[in-house]
Amino acid sequence: MMVEDPPAGTLGDSQGRVLDYLRVSVTGRCNLRCVYCMPGSGAGGKSRGDPLSFGELLRCCRAAASLGIQTIKVTGGEPLARRGTAAFVAALRALPGISAVTMTSNGTLVEKELDRLVEAGLDGLNISLDTLDGETFRRITRRNGLGKVLRAVDGALAAGLKVKINTVLLRGINDHELGAIAALARRRPVPVRYIELMPLGCAAAFEPLSGQETAAALERQYGKLVPLTGKLGNGPARYYRLEGFTGPIGFINPISRGFCESCNRLRLSSQGILRSCLCGGATLDLRSLLRSGEGALRQGFIDLAARKPPCHHLSGVYGKGRVEDGAGEMFRVGG
Ligand code: SAM
Ligand code: SF4
Repeated sequence: MMVEDPPAGTLGDSQGRVLDYLRVSVTGRCNLRCVYCMPGSGAGGKSRGDPLSFGELLRCCRAAASLGIQTIKVTGGEPLARRGTAAFVAALRALPGISAVTMTSNGTLVEKELDRLVEAGLDGLNISLDTLDGETFRRITRRNGLGKVLRAVDGALAAGLKVKINTVLLRGINDHELGAIAALARRRPVPVRYIELMPLGCAAAFEPLSGQETAAALERQYGKLVPLTGKLGNGPARYYRLEGFTGPIGFINPISRGFCESCNRLRLSSQGILRSCLCGGATLDLRSLLRSGEGALRQGFIDLAARKPPCHHLSGVYGKGRVEDGAGEMFRVGG
């Protein structure tokens, strides 16, 4: 197959995909312990080395921005569990070439950081919410805090932030709530998005629901899901409208549908590991390149982008058990 070179000033891969989106994990630590993401014992202390400082992460992002990365998603672990994340958002927002900085959070620590995040210029906040029931919240996250998450959704909306809700469904645990969670979008201008569980690490112990199954259940309850055309968001979600709802309903189906052919992203872990793909693919340790200056960092991004694999290895893996191929743990990769 002939693959065209990407336009000058853009970061491209061997498949002709333009990479303009970087997910940056600022910490592997988290104040929750979601059963499908993290072991009950937590992230494993310092055994995997210290995280890069915010200054070092910023230098990596500056190099990426100079090559055509335009959007940065700050993630974790729980990004707000690290002190200084809001100031980091402000610094990212000021980088030449960066047009949007968004965050994915479990919501439990948003309330106390909200003013700082708004001031920092955060362009969007994704809040993960898998249940509306306190007991189920404890079962999934192994912690308390549902009230804080729900207050975070409304507090962030009231503060003028663009909010999205992300839900992962686990069969027999929270799938009976999928309609109730969708109803959050009935009167709020907030997209509710269902993300298919990926069988990485701890997640392999749980049974997922496909996006199609989720959509069918929603249609039984609320009527037809009408596809929304036009571009909404910067990612792989497909959006629909339900009659009488203010916010759209989205589906992110990495397993049943796959969207690797249009993947526009790279991932940087808090330890400075740059990943070409969520699951598998080449990685590069930027920590050592930081000592050699911006030119070396830029070359690192260019080299790794060129080695991005055509696709992850997850398609068709449902029901086939645990996937072990280097990604392993979502709290380290950042989702
Ligand atoms: N702590 C933050 C949060 O929960 O939003 C950010 C990091 S978390 C790893 C990012 C997202 O990945 C969350 O929405 C979480 O539900 C999702 N996630 C974690 N493990 C997953 C898995 N195995 N499959 C699909 N999504 C997963
Ligand atoms: Fe923490 Fe997010 Fe993983 Fe839950 S999904 S354990 S909140 S990093």
